Amino acid sequence: MDTLRPLTPATKRIALVAHDHKKKDLLEWARFNRDGLAEHQLVATGTTGRILEEELDIPVHRLQSGPLGGDQQLGAMIANGDIDVLIFFWDPLEPMPHDPDVKALLRIAVVWNIPIACNRASADYLFSSPLVEATYDRRVPDFTEHSERSVAA
Ligand code: PGA
Repeated sequence: MDTLRPLTPATKRIALVAHDHKKKDLLEWARFNRDGLAEHQLVATGTTGRILEEELDIPVHRLQSGPLGGDQQLGAMIANGDIDVLIFFWDPLEPMPHDPDVKALLRIAVVWNIPIACNRASADYLFSSPLVEATYDRRVPDFTEHSERSVAA
């Protein structure tokens, strides 16, 4: 996808992902926060996005389904600076075929200092922060030293 620019300086680009046994949780949470979420730009993995669009009648930019590359697409968007918040209800009780992608998504979000909520309580805390509606100057780590390090060829 093209770069996702925030509509206003305060608009957040919110990524939403839920594993199958957590979709009900995410849907309930999103329903409760529907009007607040509608103020922002929403991006989701395929099935999560479809359910949210159908149930809440709000536009969601849908990527591939998670196991088919959606998590990796989200990771790329984070690395490109196109995601501000990650709401990721992953399932701690179920092994996934795309476990490496799940780990990679969580990892890259930490690398780029993206706020992450992985369950309803943390999503409540995160989404009730006044920073969600404010212009927030997220500190983007400076990786120049890493990028320009010399390595033996
Ligand atoms: P889905 O993917 O929204 O397409 O179900 C979520 C995931 O399993 O990462």
